[in-house]
Amino acid sequence: MAENLSGKALATAIRADVAERAAKLTASGVTPALAIVVATDDDGTLWYVRSIVKAAEKVGVRAVIHTVENPTVEAIAATLTGLAADDDTHGIILQTPLPEGVSLTDLAHLIPAAKDIDGASPVSAGNLVIGTPAFAPATAEACLELLAHHGVPLSGKRAVVIGRSAVVGKPVAQLLLRADATVTVTHSRTVDLPAVARTAEVLVVAIGRADFVTAEHVAPGAVVIDVGTNTAADGSLVGDVEAASVDGVAGGLSPVPGGVGPVTTALLLRHAVAAAEGGF
Ligand code: NAP
Repeated sequence: MAENLSGKALATAIRADVAERAAKLTASGVTPALAIVVATDDDGTLWYVRSIVKAAEKVGVRAVIHTVENPTVEAIAATLTGLAADDDTHGIILQTPLPEGVSLTDLAHLIPAAKDIDGASPVSAGNLVIGTPAFAPATAEACLELLAHHGVPLSGKRAVVIGRSAVVGKPVAQLLLRADATVTVTHSRTVDLPAVARTAEVLVVAIGRADFVTAEHVAPGAVVIDVGTNTAADGSLVGDVEAASVDGVAGGLSPVPGGVGPVTTALLLRHAVAAAEGGF
């Protein structure tokens, strides 16, 4: 059986650190605050943003949901511009999905890098690539934090990332590279994906297709990080990795739920506090 690479204890530790830093900030007269801009009425998304607000309240971070009525590009842009100029807002998250016809790239540049706590803006993405201080997308950073927490070495290791989105796949690849892994990024046009995936000592999966990765994709002893969050027919949350088959081959596997997800939320809060402290 693969080691269970749970994110729960790590998320608890991050939240404890955040609470301590938030208390210090508040005592000095600055309440750390983040804004979540929402332009959808998708139930799952609304549930997710409310869970961030609850988690924030527990650690002394103020989190405010800004719902954009009639969410045109112009209306969302106006909300972002207002928050960018607001001294009492330290972090801004532009929640996806966005309405049909509106893309994150049309808007993310309006989030100043210093407030871009989910690493969405092109400036943050560029800084990540060239290695200057920036907030990385929290999900991507969560993968690396999870690997470090469970003592998985990366230097010199062969890492394969499945998925090349701007939110997960590409930033994970940059962070793995920064950790001195030898990185291969794969996607829907990759030829013989199972064979490429089997070259990995560390495999990060971010596709968005339930149970897509099976034992066929995993070399014996490889460490597998499952970023996927998919809703199964019975309504439960499942990853991109078919845990039942991969468990017998992998050396370690992050669970869904309870792996990358809780660490991602904790990191968003850590980023908000860091932004309120004036850093990254
Ligand atoms: P996305 O933007 O839809 O990107 C999916 C990527 O997977 C694309 O690069 C796509 O390749 C690739 N892909 C799709 N089908 C493939 C196939 N058959 N073989 C190989 N590659 C394939 O998704 P995302 O935003 O990166 O999210 C990925 C997953 O992570 C989703 O389940 C999402 O819900 C989850 N997620 C979780 C968290 C968290 O905190 N836990 C946060 C964000 C996302 P092409 O580029 O060639 O199309």
